[in-house]
Amino acid sequence: MSALPFPHLSISLHTAAILTGRSVRTWQRRIEEGLVPRLGDGVRALVPFEAVQQSMEGVPGEAANAWSAQDVQTLVRADQGEALAQALEVNRELATRDELTGLINRRAMLDLMALEHSRSLRSGRPLLLAQLDIDHFKPINDQHGHATGDRALQAFAGTVRACVRDTDVLARWGGEEFVLMLTDTSADHARELLERIRQAVQALEIAHSAGSLQLTVSIGLAQHLPGETVEHTLERADQALYRAKALGRNRVVVAPAIHRPAAAGVNARA
Ligand code: GH3
Ligand code: MG
Ligand code: MG
Repeated sequence: MSALPFPHLSISLHTAAILTGRSVRTWQRRIEEGLVPRLGDGVRALVPFEAVQQSMEGVPGEAANAWSAQDVQTLVRADQGEALAQALEVNRELATRDELTGLINRRAMLDLMALEHSRSLRSGRPLLLAQLDIDHFKPINDQHGHATGDRALQAFAGTVRACVRDTDVLARWGGEEFVLMLTDTSADHARELLERIRQAVQALEIAHSAGSLQLTVSIGLAQHLPGETVEHTLERADQALYRAKALGRNRVVVAPAIHRPAAAGVNARA
């Protein structure tokens, strides 16, 4: 078998079973017994090439299988190609998702916003962006601990997601700030939706060791205006959010539909 000079094959248990004529369970048992090194999450293993060779040549009392060296090579390559594709997919997921909430992250959202912007230019359908910021979140961490803060962020994300359609995109922008992109919705409908979200968040009860806590959220909404960049729309949403905070928090503020260049430092919200 000079074509396959490796003492071990790094393959999935499924491929190991096909190549050796042994069951997946047999390979799992060998891993459990420490006879075969497990790879990654246990779906793959370092299978001794000898086991494959035995199966190809046949052992006394058992018929040889019909695999040629070429077949084995093809199967191993296909298996490893699949593993690589899966690893790349996992990497892609990690690069675009926020681990805590499962929402897409800021980077992926910027890409989606650019995509949606060009779509809305072509189709003329409205594009709205909302900035959501949980009110007085720091004291929640301070009083109940970071782990409770994390659970509050997860509950918040789940609640907002449950209020919106599958086609609306919610992203974790960073910390306790989120961005919601709404398409095909009028500013009036968006405002009503955000008001429902505000109420749903207020109704949330997050359990902690000494009882439960509640959250409120401030929201700024801006509709994309002809001629402006999405970054500019987002900046107007951020200004509306700043206004919602200044007016006492726990409210939705809609940005005026005026396209004016942002003044320096206007985005420097604490
Ligand atoms: P405001 O109403 O003005 O928004 O007040 P705030 O306390 O929500 O705002 P501030 O920016 O002062 O605090 C945000 C806090 O969010 C501080 C930071 O520790 C917390 N935070 C950011 N990311 C995470 C996270 O992933 N987990 C937890 N538990 N806390 C986080
Ligand atoms: Mg904030
Ligand atoms: Mg906040």
